[in-house]
Amino acid sequence: MLCHKCDRKAVIVLQHSGLCDAHFLAYFEEKVEKTINKFRLIDRADSLCVAASGGKDSLTVLYLTKKYLLRYQLPCTLFALSVDEGIKNYRKSTLRDLKTFCTKHEIDLHIISSKEEFGYTLDQAAPKIKKLQQKKACNICGVWRRFLLNKYAKKYGATKVITGHNLDDEAQVVLMNMFKANTTLMAHLGPQSGVEEHEQFASRVKPLYFCTEKETRLYALLKKFDVSFTECPNAQEGLRAYVRDMLNDVEARYPGTKQGIINSFLNVMPLIKEREMKKPQQLNMCLVCGEPTNNDVCNACKIKEALDGMSRGAKKVEVSPKKTSLKPKRVLIITKTKSEKKKTNNEKKKNIK
Ligand code: SF4
Ligand code: ZN
Repeated sequence: MLCHKCDRKAVIVLQHSGLCDAHFLAYFEEKVEKTINKFRLIDRADSLCVAASGGKDSLTVLYLTKKYLLRYQLPCTLFALSVDEGIKNYRKSTLRDLKTFCTKHEIDLHIISSKEEFGYTLDQAAPKIKKLQQKKACNICGVWRRFLLNKYAKKYGATKVITGHNLDDEAQVVLMNMFKANTTLMAHLGPQSGVEEHEQFASRVKPLYFCTEKETRLYALLKKFDVSFTECPNAQEGLRAYVRDMLNDVEARYPGTKQGIINSFLNVMPLIKEREMKKPQQLNMCLVCGEPTNNDVCNACKIKEALDGMSRGAKKVEVSPKKTSLKPKRVLIITKTKSEKKKTNNEKKKNIK
């Protein structure tokens, strides 16, 4: 097939028409730029932290964020932050790619190690937690990664965390949350994550939101990014892998399915977020580490305590607060429902009488 714009050989077919390499690159970059502008993902006052693993998605988003800042002459600071979970035969090579990329493009890079932070690599933690709580490696990985990214993005002064999540990732998570009827987690999806901004959480944004996995892979290949395209050895585990394969099957038979899921989700997203905002929510500071959590102890600390407990041979897992004996510090009640507000007002009136 030929490119429908210039008659050169097509490298990809999108919606029944071909694009050559040059026109595909322009199409992809324009799509990312439009997403940033439409959803106001970057502001000139921002300090930007790109959550980078060294894979194709993170290198692409890192490259295009830098290009966007230069194009619009924005004075934002930009740095990359990576988590070394300690996954054998995988993370070393992606971190090597990331270091090479950041050196070449003159981007500061910070690498945080799970082993140094929690005392365990993911490879050490996963089999123990699986035995104790039947949790998969990806569950621990996700909790620890979110924790470390939020903690260190704040520490290094970031106002936004940019992630390389693409359309495939988002479609998978939308479906997974639907399967589990988890509308609370669904409310945190979208090009800009979260329900509303809070100083304890660096806001997360996704410039590749409308780019498919296939498009992102092709972009990284055509740009000749030094990417090894290796897959995490745990990537075939769990519901995510099942949903990913199922979606790929449906997409192959009915092209446009993934885009359809995202379009449907974006139509109802404002309603889901609004409903979530009406729920009274309390944010505490973790008794152990002082990071934000909805409980008294955050999930990252609970995992670490479970592992420490196993190492000590304890039968029951106890969570030990820091010696400073912090009390659960309730820092925020986000909103009250209308009926709650009415009730409080009535009570106030009664007191005045
Ligand atoms: Fe972590 Fe699972 Fe992703 Fe591997 S596949 S990096 S374990 S979340
Ligand atoms: Zn904690």
